[in-house]
Amino acid sequence: MGFKVSIVGAGGTVGAMAGYNIALQGFADEIAYVDIAEDPAIGQAHDTLHGVAYDSHTDVHYSDYPGVEGSDVVVITAGKPREPGMTRLDLADANRPIIADIIGNVDEYAPDSITVLTSNPMDVLNYHLYDSCDRDRSEVIGFAGRLDSARFRYAIADRFDTTPYNVEASIIGEHGDTQVPVFSKVQVDGRTPEFDAGEREEIRETLKESAMNVIEKKGATEFGPGRGVAHTVEAIAHDTNEVIPSSVVLDGEYGHSDVSIGVPARVGEDGAEVVEWDLSEREQEMFDESAEKLKEQKA
Ligand code: NAD
Repeated sequence: MGFKVSIVGAGGTVGAMAGYNIALQGFADEIAYVDIAEDPAIGQAHDTLHGVAYDSHTDVHYSDYPGVEGSDVVVITAGKPREPGMTRLDLADANRPIIADIIGNVDEYAPDSITVLTSNPMDVLNYHLYDSCDRDRSEVIGFAGRLDSARFRYAIADRFDTTPYNVEASIIGEHGDTQVPVFSKVQVDGRTPEFDAGEREEIRETLKESAMNVIEKKGATEFGPGRGVAHTVEAIAHDTNEVIPSSVVLDGEYGHSDVSIGVPARVGEDGAEVVEWDLSEREQEMFDESAEKLKEQKA
């Protein structure tokens, strides 16, 4: 049996970019592009195929919901994206019914799949997804931590005049304003640097703006989430068990339950398993604030 991925929202920016990256990597045998907007999804599927024709044998095609049957992973990117000036939470009312509609269909046609969701507010909607379907929490993955962490790596590399390749740095907590950069675990060129409070605050402020800077300048973020989703799906396909910061529903870990929030997670063929790190006192306090904020947003 081959590896099959479906992408709901593939007519749009993030879904298509995720599909293109997955196809280019060649680990999936089939990718089904689903969208309420049929023509854009068909166009994205053809464009993806033309892009990877010399690189990959992945079969990419438009699909209706029955066609997602047999999917190992269903990526969900459907829903409205932010416009300049909006927070991710501002999208909750618009995107909650969209996700509700999608869950019913995914549950009907691909009940055994692992879901990877980007739609914002991602943590809130990922919990909503988990709460309204009969899946193990490890099979309901919210994507963002890898992208937020990539932005953190760039900020740290800049500060130490090195390349992001030489930086280990992770973001946990909300995919939003209360995100928690884990400074205590940062490694630069194999060393563990110290940050004073002013530096931490400055980097935190830079990070808060980084996605909106892209949206204001080019209209949307696409390469960051697209490549990051593909990496997450690849970890599932190849059962790599690598740690990728992801939003997972907690069951007592980090002192919280019944909330989906960014944590280090080992990602493999069974989905995402929470990894517990020792956080500094300040990081745990910030994580608690972030978790409480997300719990208040539950549907
Ligand atoms: P987009 O507008 O380009 O694409 C969204 C697609 O969803 C459209 O093609 C639309 O037709 C489709 N859609 C809407 N309702 C649907 C439904 N009921 N069923 C099927 N398809 C439906 O938006 P985008 O830039 O691709 O962003 C998608 C989502 O991802 C947004 O909510 C955005 O905020 C979020 N996002 C998250 C991250 C992350 O790291 N988690 C990063 C970037 C964007």
